[in-house]
Amino acid sequence: MEITYPFAKVFTDSTNQLNVFFLHDTEHSTFQQLGDIGTGIVDFCELDFSQVQKKIQALETIAVPNACLEGIQTGFYEAVDLLKDKHSYAHFFLNSEVVRTFWASDKSAEEQMGYLLFLFQYYFDLQQVYSEALEFCLNTQVLIEHTLSERYVMFCNLHPNFTQHMLRSMYGVAPIANGFFDTSKLIQFDNPAEVDTKRVLQNIHRDSGYAVSMWQYFAIQSLEEILYLELMEMVKRGTRVKRCALCDRYFVLADKRRRDYCDRIYGGKRTCKQIGAKKKFNQSIEDDTYLQEFQRIYNRMYSRFYRMDAWGTERQTNKLTEEGFKTWTEMASKVRLAYKQGEISGEDLIKKISEKTNEHD
Ligand SMILES: [Zn+2]
Repeated sequence: MEITYPFAKVFTDSTNQLNVFFLHDTEHSTFQQLGDIGTGIVDFCELDFSQVQKKIQALETIAVPNACLEGIQTGFYEAVDLLKDKHSYAHFFLNSEVVRTFWASDKSAEEQMGYLLFLFQYYFDLQQVYSEALEFCLNTQVLIEHTLSERYVMFCNLHPNFTQHMLRSMYGVAPIANGFFDTSKLIQFDNPAEVDTKRVLQNIHRDSGYAVSMWQYFAIQSLEEILYLELMEMVKRGTRVKRCALCDRYFVLADKRRRDYCDRIYGGKRTCKQIGAKKKFNQSIEDDTYLQEFQRIYNRMYSRFYRMDAWGTERQTNKLTEEGFKTWTEMASKVRLAYKQGEISGEDLIKKISEKTNEHD
């Protein structure tokens, strides 16, 4: 498939950020550094799509031949705009896909609408897949007896389509300093109207007697591609995620420091981390025997469903149905959140999860 505007050029280097040029059209582009790597996926998985879903369902009921095409287009743009300022790149890429469908395709109005309805549903489903990928491959609290490589291979066995993703990569002359993408230089050249191309090129590479500073980048056109790229960077770098001890949402462990809380605002002004710092004074998460016991039961069930205990052997284990497992994990997430928020006691947490788990024995 040909690359058409809008799209993004993404440079990775050894920093914990993605260097992204968002190319809106031939004349307009913006540069942004996205980090820490992994935050984009975590935020995508935690994104509340319910308003967008409602909007898309409403569009679905419109019969194309009788509808005003302009109204439908507006509807899709409104759906996309519900994500504005809520996610670092989801808005850009979804908007790009809508723009391309309406302006750069030879599809009929009916086909355009059908394609976009499919596309949005595809992303709602993709949220499930990426949540599973985070838990399966990178969550520090589950499958701890397996290495990251084992976990990644097992995840790919479960999602064969996933391994067939391909990204388009290209080379460009880029400002590089000691193997890093040199943003200070880049920002100097940010205003195209003021750029003296000759000087820029000299600056990028001062001595023409040597090789040109070519740097590989990815040409990213869709939300799916950037999610895939970011997940691969996480797997490659061994970037882990964890559930916050207070709000229970995922956050990225950007460095080796021990962290139990995320930086999101919790119920008002303060962040989970700020509230957690006080709480921790009284009780450490690691000393929480209820959560430890919960995690033990959770992990056992998890291994059982994915038949991890039979990994590498022919041995059969008692199998749970997918539906049964889904209901069980939803229940487990609910009671874990209720416990973290102080709505139920530790005894209740264990009692509830044990009851539901025993049903499957
Ligand atoms: Zn939190």
